[in-house]
Amino acid sequence: MSRTILPGATLGMLGSGQLGRMFAVAAKRLGYRVHVFSPDKDSPTGQIADLEVQANYDDLDAVAAFAQDVDVVSYEFENVPVDMLETVERYAPVYPGGHVLHTAQHRIREKTFLQSAGIPVTPFHAIHSAEDLQKIGNADVPGVLKTATLGYDGKGQIKIESVDELKAAWQELNCDEAVLERWVDFDSELSVVAARGHDGTTEFYGPIANSHSNHILDISVTPTGLPESVANEAIEIARTIMTELNVVGVLCVEFFLASNGKLLVNELAPRPHNSGHLTVDAHVTCQFEQQVRAICGLPLGATTQPRPSAMANLLGDLWQNGEPDWERAIAVSDLKLHLYGKQEARVGRKMGHLTVMADTPDEAAKKARAAREALVNNSPS
Ligand code: AMP
Repeated sequence: MSRTILPGATLGMLGSGQLGRMFAVAAKRLGYRVHVFSPDKDSPTGQIADLEVQANYDDLDAVAAFAQDVDVVSYEFENVPVDMLETVERYAPVYPGGHVLHTAQHRIREKTFLQSAGIPVTPFHAIHSAEDLQKIGNADVPGVLKTATLGYDGKGQIKIESVDELKAAWQELNCDEAVLERWVDFDSELSVVAARGHDGTTEFYGPIANSHSNHILDISVTPTGLPESVANEAIEIARTIMTELNVVGVLCVEFFLASNGKLLVNELAPRPHNSGHLTVDAHVTCQFEQQVRAICGLPLGATTQPRPSAMANLLGDLWQNGEPDWERAIAVSDLKLHLYGKQEARVGRKMGHLTVMADTPDEAAKKARAAREALVNNSPS
């Protein structure tokens, strides 16, 4: 039986971007100390944490020293290297556990697990070598070839219109293993952010409706207005995943709602998720506080949402004409601005987000878009 880790203890975070930053804010509010392991100095998480240990992920001596100084560890990215994880585990418990990372780090393992749990996934073929390309037929395309590991935000994947394009795509991806997924004709993309405690209790956010631009999340809205049967099914799928994988912590399930009305799981992220950022302002307990509570063995908090809400990502593109006009965003009532403290605004880089609360989900989405447009310096007033 794992012990409860009470406020005053020190929590370790592997990775130092915006997810670690918001975890650190939630942890500090609850009275914990936070140490972050960061490859960079003055990172988004390091600016909030009590201690930023700056070292590379393959510096296992630094990893060991870091782990000896903390009571429990979580992470903000799923590509934590295996030897880093094993080193941490020698000194401190890590949540979600190594078995969850092992599954979620690899698309073939992830899909195989989901299928074995009876959960519908996008139809796929596992590709372990060039020979495996031979078994792909016309019924499998159009599709998308995705690297088994290290892909995110549309990186490491190539759309295939016909079987003829497969060989070139495989060569271009230049990886050891991949999956070929059938292209899904979907009505919408949804996510459920789930939390599970040491005692097996669960809490859920969503489903949340997500729209993407250039493969990067653009807007999230909840509630979705979908039939209750669909919402309940999405939550039940998330519950099954949390239980079957024995997750302690927070995990996001991403879905396609196919045009035939069927829910298909696209992928899992064993950590808080960009689509859950709106929970910081819109829900009684946010996804980051839930992560703190879950890994510390505290009871989970309520996920009640008083008002509809929408979140719009702020990418580096917004800085192209200079610093965005923050006063305009702040002037919108029911709007919360979040900036991640990143120094360099590159195109496509997640720099912050804004969350809006309103009387209806549509109104919230409309206000979030309008507020973001108004940020661009030369936009008409
Ligand atoms: P992923 O990295 O797998 O989450 O994919 C990024 C985005 O690409 C998704 O959010 C979808 O918008 C799109 N996408 C990925 N796989 C498929 C698919 N099999 N069918 C249709 N769209 C897809």
